[in-house]
Amino acid sequence: MQISPIPTLSEEINDIRLRTADIVANRIIPNEGIIYAGGEKSKKLRKEINEEVKKQGLWAPHLPSEYGGMDNGFLELAYMNEILAWSPLGNRLFGVIAPNSGNQKILVKYGTDEQKKKWLIPLINQEMESGFSMTEPDSAGSDPRSLKTTAVKEGDEWVINGHKIMTSNGNRADFLVVMCKTEEDSDEGGANSKMTQIIVPTDSPGLTKVRSVPIWGHTGGDHMEIKYENVRVPLENALGARGSGHQAAQDRLGAGRVYHCMNTIGQMWRAFDIMVKYSTEREVHGGKLETKQFIQGFIADSYMDIQASRLMTIHCSEIMDKEGDARVDISAIKVFVPAAGTRVVDRAIQIHGWRGVSSDTPLAGMYQGFRTLRLADGPDEVHRILIAKEILNRYHDGLSWDFGV
Ligand SMILES: Cc1cc2nc3c(=O)[nH]c(=O)nc-3n(C[C@H](O)[C@H](O)[C@H](O)COP(=O)(O)OP(=O)(O)OC[C@H]3O[C@@H](n4cnc5c(N)ncnc54)[C@H](O)[C@@H]3O)c2cc1C
Repeated sequence: MQISPIPTLSEEINDIRLRTADIVANRIIPNEGIIYAGGEKSKKLRKEINEEVKKQGLWAPHLPSEYGGMDNGFLELAYMNEILAWSPLGNRLFGVIAPNSGNQKILVKYGTDEQKKKWLIPLINQEMESGFSMTEPDSAGSDPRSLKTTAVKEGDEWVINGHKIMTSNGNRADFLVVMCKTEEDSDEGGANSKMTQIIVPTDSPGLTKVRSVPIWGHTGGDHMEIKYENVRVPLENALGARGSGHQAAQDRLGAGRVYHCMNTIGQMWRAFDIMVKYSTEREVHGGKLETKQFIQGFIADSYMDIQASRLMTIHCSEIMDKEGDARVDISAIKVFVPAAGTRVVDRAIQIHGWRGVSSDTPLAGMYQGFRTLRLADGPDEVHRILIAKEILNRYHDGLSWDFGV
C-alpha cells in the first residue's frame, strides 16, 4: 500500500490517512491470518493493535470526541475509511464494530442522559453488545412502513409483540433496538410517523431467539430470527419521541449506507492492488498475465470503477457535511459502489484462477460482502426508484437537475 498526501486536502486529513495506512499495512494486513485464527495469540495481537490505534488518536472515527471518538465529518471519514478498509478487520480494530457503531450513533443523537449512561457508555467501552431489529419475515424489509411488530402502552410499560429476522449480532447482543409500530393506522399523521424504536434487553421474558440464519453457507454467523411475545419494557426505553422511529431509522441507515460505500472502496482498492501485482507475476501461455489484452482490460475497467466510486462517495460526503439534501447521492452510491465492487472483485477472482475463490486471498469474502450489499441497506431497486422520483419531481416543478451541488 503506497499512500501519498493529497495536495487538495488539509494537513490534518493527510496525516490521518498516512498514520491509518501505516497501521493497516504494517500491523494488520501481515497478521490477518493470525487474527482470524483466534486464540490467545490473536487476542494479544488485537489488544496491541487497539492500544496503538488509541495512542495515535485514531480510535472510533465515527464518534464525537466527548465519547472518545475523532470528531470526523463524513468527508474526513471517506478519506480515512478508504485506507482503513483495505483489511476487512480494519474497522473492528479501529473501534467501529457494526451494528454497535450504528446503535452508538443513534443513542448519541436520540438517547436521553439516562439511556446514554445505561446503554451507550457500556457499548462504547465494549462491555455490552447490541443489534438492530427491524426486518421481519412476513413484511417487506424494503418498505419499513409495512412492518407488523407492535408496541402497545400499558401502564408504565410497552408490551411488544412481533417476529423479526436477520437481526445481526442478535445472539451476542445484550440489548436490541427494535423497530415497532406504536400508532394505529387511523391515528393522526402519515405512515412515517407511526413507528418508534424501543430498547429491549435480550434477557427480557417473552424474547425468544429462534435460530441464526446461515448466510452464504456460514452456519456460525449471528443473524438471528427473534420472536417477541408480550415482551415488557419500561416506557423510558423508547428511543427518541414517540413516532420518531422512521426518521431515526433513516438517520441510521442513510449514514450507514455511506460508511458501507467507504468500506467497499477500501476493499476494491486492495482487490485492485492484488490483481495488478499478480498480473505482473503470473506466467500463462508464454507470457505474463499483464501482457494479455483481456487482463489489461480488467485493469483499466477496474481503475474506472474504483475512481468513479471514490469521487461519487466523496461528493456525497461533502453534501452530508454541509447538511444538504443528499438523498439522491446516498441512493446513487448505495447502488453504484457495491455493484462496481462486485465487478472489480469478480475480475480479480478471475485472474487468480483457483486462488481467487480460495481462502488464500481475501477476494471470495469481499465478493460475498459486496453482493450482499446490493440487497441489504434497502435493495437497489428501491434506491433507483427514489433517484428517478427526486429527479423527475424537479423537472415537474419546472427546474432541472444540477449535478454540481
Ligand atoms: C447479511 C445481512 C444482514 C442484515 N442485517 C440486518 C439487521 O441487522 N437488522 C435488520 O433489521 N435487517 C437486517 N438485514 C435485512 C435487510 O435490511 C433486508 O433484507 C432488506 O431491507 C430487504 O428486505 P427484504 O429482504 O424483506 O426484501 P423485500 O422487501 O421482500 O424485497 C425483496 C426484493 O424485491 C425487490 N423489490 C423490493 N421493492 C421493489 C420495488 N419497489 N420495485 C422493484 N423491486 C422491488 C428487490 O429486488 C428486493 O431485494 C440484513 C440482511 C442481510 C442480507
